[in-house]
Amino acid sequence: MAQQSNFDEIYSFLNEKFENESEYLQAVHEVLEDIIPIYNANSDYKAFDIVRRLCLPERIIYFTVSWMNSSGEIEVNQGWRVQHNSAMGPYKGGLRFHPTVNLSVLKFLAFEQCFKNALTGLPMGGGKGGSDFDPKGRSDRDIMLFCQSFMRELQRHIGANTDVPAGDINVGAREIGYLYGEYRRLNNRFEGVLTGKGLEFGGSYVRTEATGFGLIYFLQAVCQHQNTQIDGKTIVVSGAGNVALHAALKAVEKGGKVVTLSNSRGLLYNASGLTDTAIKWAIENRSSSGNILEEMAKDDMGTWEENKTPWHIECDIALPCATQNELGEKDARTLLNNGCRMVLEGANMPCTNKAQAMFIDEKITYVPGKASNAGGVALSGLEMGQNAMFNQREASVLDEQLYTIMANIHERCVSEGKIESGFVNYMKGANIASFRRLADAMVAQGV
Ligand code: NDP
Repeated sequence: MAQQSNFDEIYSFLNEKFENESEYLQAVHEVLEDIIPIYNANSDYKAFDIVRRLCLPERIIYFTVSWMNSSGEIEVNQGWRVQHNSAMGPYKGGLRFHPTVNLSVLKFLAFEQCFKNALTGLPMGGGKGGSDFDPKGRSDRDIMLFCQSFMRELQRHIGANTDVPAGDINVGAREIGYLYGEYRRLNNRFEGVLTGKGLEFGGSYVRTEATGFGLIYFLQAVCQHQNTQIDGKTIVVSGAGNVALHAALKAVEKGGKVVTLSNSRGLLYNASGLTDTAIKWAIENRSSSGNILEEMAKDDMGTWEENKTPWHIECDIALPCATQNELGEKDARTLLNNGCRMVLEGANMPCTNKAQAMFIDEKITYVPGKASNAGGVALSGLEMGQNAMFNQREASVLDEQLYTIMANIHERCVSEGKIESGFVNYMKGANIASFRRLADAMVAQGV
């Protein structure tokens, strides 16, 4: 019964039902450990069976995307939208196009998104969606045709006050433009139904940069809390996408020495630190290049190391910004042995459970993505606000708001995650602070 719920009971219930969904179970496990004591101590949370309800998505939409490519061939892909929880606002979370996308991955991302969105303090629920479509090497026309077909089904289930998707891996400004255009044509409505839109049609300044910049604002708050600074620190960054490049750019602006970027094919290493000119060049040219990092190496911006990840490089700070489970137990050990003292996640769940536990056991600063990468969705929330008001705020105002939101998330994590001798368990702090907000909203709204 709900009143007796505890970690083992809830986790084994989920494990039995969803035993093949490893990413989803991993994400739930990570949160349950911290929130069960809070749940057990609150009679309202127990009476309303909050944890079980919070772990299960409110709705999952599955559809087949059958589309004709530019060569006239029929292609068939799978599409999903996981609408996880709407107690705090419209479902909100990105769309991912990648061959590794499956229901387990999207359920983990949607679950995480609810906690992340709750931390921002903005009225947003959590969701996630996407497709197993692989856009790599596709023509612009194929991308448009796929996006249009995907939206023909998705449009039935979303709306400015219902569910507001954004981008994620392989879904950037171009894809959001095509998706938005199809929504508008089908519904004859101009509304804030997607975020990450172009500036000319309801987009917000700073949205593109927000996740990476926000990550560094969070790092700044951590450094201030520890009476240190980013200036002079050696930083390894994984990934070479939206999050990684904007994090690298802001880190360099703050005086950090960013020595790596990476992608699924290898590593770019520059021992003396990448310049802001090199990173800006990568941002501008990444979508038109097969492998932007190899091109940078050819232009003497570093050396290219095939099939390598950044975790063996000596550093003070590691920022995993590529994808889930990219940093495992062995990598964590290498980072610790090499003196790394801070790991802040730019990607969603890039550190495995074992890697996270090692960082926390060794009492180095480890910040989960739901706190440190929340800047992207926070700016999306501000984009929704601007769309509702039919206005567009200035970049400097939004950048300041982003900074304040990240500093507030840092404070929320510290107040719930501070343990003996001043050590902050950011994972625990983020889980508990967001859980309380979500649980209170659910209790207040009844069953
Ligand atoms: P992009 O598509 O812009 O970039 C992804 C980067 O990660 C690419 O460099 C890609 O390399 C690399 N990558 C992908 N899969 C792997 C892999 N298996 N091993 C190594 N590298 C890999 O995505 P984003 O930068 O937008 O997103 C990155 C992460 O940040 C994701 O976890 C996403 O969920 C998260 N995130 C993104 C937000 C946003 O606003 N964009 C907001 C919050 C979180 P390659 O090109 O070779 O595939």
